[in-house]
Amino acid sequence: MRYLFDLPTLLRRGCPFCGHRIFAGPLSMHENCPGCGHDFDRGQPGYFTGAMYVSYALAVPFITLLTGIEYLFLRDWSLFRLVLLAWVLCVPLIPWFWQYSRTLWIHFDQWVDPVDRPDSDPHSTP
Ligand SMILES: [Zn+2]
Repeated sequence: MRYLFDLPTLLRRGCPFCGHRIFAGPLSMHENCPGCGHDFDRGQPGYFTGAMYVSYALAVPFITLLTGIEYLFLRDWSLFRLVLLAWVLCVPLIPWFWQYSRTLWIHFDQWVDPVDRPDSDPHSTP
């Protein structure tokens, strides 16, 4: 897994095995990697539930930072209004959070519980 947690691969949302792009579009994902055939969800329903935690871990600090920046310019606004504005500003970034959370989850899962390379023959003898 040459591309596992490789920063350029993570930034372009690439496969941990071959570096090929995981996503076909802003809100669509390949089921299997077009480059190496890796099954991204391992055929497990609910596999990407863990990506929700990653998304939360990405979004909350971002919204917090955005709220702090807003406070510099809108000091007379209440905290509720500042957080609400930060949340509204983040809505167009949902595809971005979705893609990066899934990419990080796939890489993390391969790091914790690696599978053999998808192009390797499981029936071959060493
Ligand atoms: Zn691949």
